[in-house]
Amino acid sequence: MDPRTAAHVLGQIAAHLELRGESTFKSRAYEQAATALLGLDTDDLGPLLRSGELAATRGLGPATLAVVRDLIETGESRYLEQLRATTPPGLLELLRVPGLGTAKIQKLHAALGVDSLESLESAARDGRLAKLPRYGPKTAEKILRGIERLRATGTQRLYPQGAQEGAQLVRMVRAHPDVIAAEIAGSLRRRRETVGDVDIVAACLADPAAVAGAFGSAPGVRSTTRAGAGSIAVTYVDGTRLDLHCVFTDDFAVALWRATGSIEHVAAVTARLAERGFSLEGNRLLDAGGTSVPAPNEDALYAQAGLAFVPPELREGRGEIEAAAAGSIPTLLEPTDVRGVLHCHSTWSDGKATIAQMADAAGERGWSYIGITDHSQSAFYASGLSRDRVLAQHDEIDSLNASGTDVRVLKGVEADILADGALDYDEALLDRFDFVIGSVHSRFSMDRATMTARVLRALDSRHLTILGHPTGRLLLSREPYPIDVEAVLEKAAGVGAAVELNADPHRLDLDWRYLPRARALGVSIEIGPDAHSSRGLDHMTTGIGIARKGGLAARDVLNTRSADEVLAFARARRERGVH
Ligand SMILES: [Zn+2]
Ligand SMILES: [Zn+2]
Repeated sequence: MDPRTAAHVLGQIAAHLELRGESTFKSRAYEQAATALLGLDTDDLGPLLRSGELAATRGLGPATLAVVRDLIETGESRYLEQLRATTPPGLLELLRVPGLGTAKIQKLHAALGVDSLESLESAARDGRLAKLPRYGPKTAEKILRGIERLRATGTQRLYPQGAQEGAQLVRMVRAHPDVIAAEIAGSLRRRRETVGDVDIVAACLADPAAVAGAFGSAPGVRSTTRAGAGSIAVTYVDGTRLDLHCVFTDDFAVALWRATGSIEHVAAVTARLAERGFSLEGNRLLDAGGTSVPAPNEDALYAQAGLAFVPPELREGRGEIEAAAAGSIPTLLEPTDVRGVLHCHSTWSDGKATIAQMADAAGERGWSYIGITDHSQSAFYASGLSRDRVLAQHDEIDSLNASGTDVRVLKGVEADILADGALDYDEALLDRFDFVIGSVHSRFSMDRATMTARVLRALDSRHLTILGHPTGRLLLSREPYPIDVEAVLEKAAGVGAAVELNADPHRLDLDWRYLPRARALGVSIEIGPDAHSSRGLDHMTTGIGIARKGGLAARDVLNTRSADEVLAFARARRERGVH
């Protein structure tokens, strides 16, 4: 029994338990066990069970271990079969519809017999759903949009999940005795915000077709498609998809380059090679006489095309070729350039860690300051802070800083931008903060002109230092609200406010596609983890990747500056005067 199949079974059990309304504690245990199994470096759980290593693995308890034992011994889980016997299989699928929780699914099942995506769709279309108590045409419409979105996004997942799968898969590929090197390519290497499948290129000592074939018949595989001699597309039982390209070592660099770039990027580089008399035949670079030219790495390939090396994140066919030809590709931001973080929540509002714990966690990550930005008073849903609570929080921060901690705590706030564009809190209170993030958290359904005017008005406030998650998008679940981003960026540039690249993997907002424009306008970008726990600080890894993708250099990013420089930035913004 391979870990992937076992983890999939545990995940299914967790979903069934959730659907039955069992305690979340119970379903979480199955999810944790699934994660623990995926971390094991093995193809076969049997020996680990017999040696007792499995029982000692963190994350596995008696109940989850019993399921794994059952799987190893019989190839099936009786527990899952029992759960399946009493739950229509289509209900599990409904859990993936954005906005549909277990309670709603139960109700729809009981009242309308909804037991699949199809029956949900027809109930929403023919008006039956809208007639249910506390439902209405709006809910029906929302559900239809959710179904549409689910179908459109299919197997897309957020970057961190894709990266985790990629790391597991590349480890597995490298373990093959005939593979001497393997690298992740495709959208994952380009650091797209969502990824559909994992592309891996492997350099092989033996026949690439045979190596590719071996992965097609490995445990945990649901189906495969051959896509050329050394290439195979594998779908695993849990829906993970691997596109594996096996090549001989001499072809590795070109194959990696080809499997990484977007179609547009690959075509543009190929055209430039052709202008210089080169051609590509499969993964071989040929000169005008048809003789093979060695390309030991991607740098060499770009050099033959007369281009500077293009970092993988930029290979989207959005102007990077011209920049590489002109030698104007920026030196992209590196994780070590970041000196502090400015968007973090604590237990004062809806965070899970205290300010002191957050500061310690920031120190562990090598940062020298942390801005605490709890929610403002209007954000009652997130325990926003009243005036008195703000003053008390500031006392706590003062005494923390006075106690001589390594990490300096800055007094920030994530103030709601109210419907009319005013910032939550009066001027006198706003003056007490070191800096202010202003964010839209309500009334998303305004039309474009009204929403734009609202945010432009907020930017008129001299207290607003940073505009938080500027479009409100939630990847794979909520569209951005309509807003004129160009006008917002121009305004921010004009008043000296920074704009956020929110690093929460669900947001990654501002969209990286706007970052080059922000950079050209000279708008400072703040990369904010929007952390609600100490682990949430690790969102920065994803955010920094997206900043690179948007072509940002260290000097474009506000939090690559020192704490004093950040404070000076906020002061300068305030002193520019009231409009
Ligand atoms: Zn927010
Ligand atoms: Zn926040």
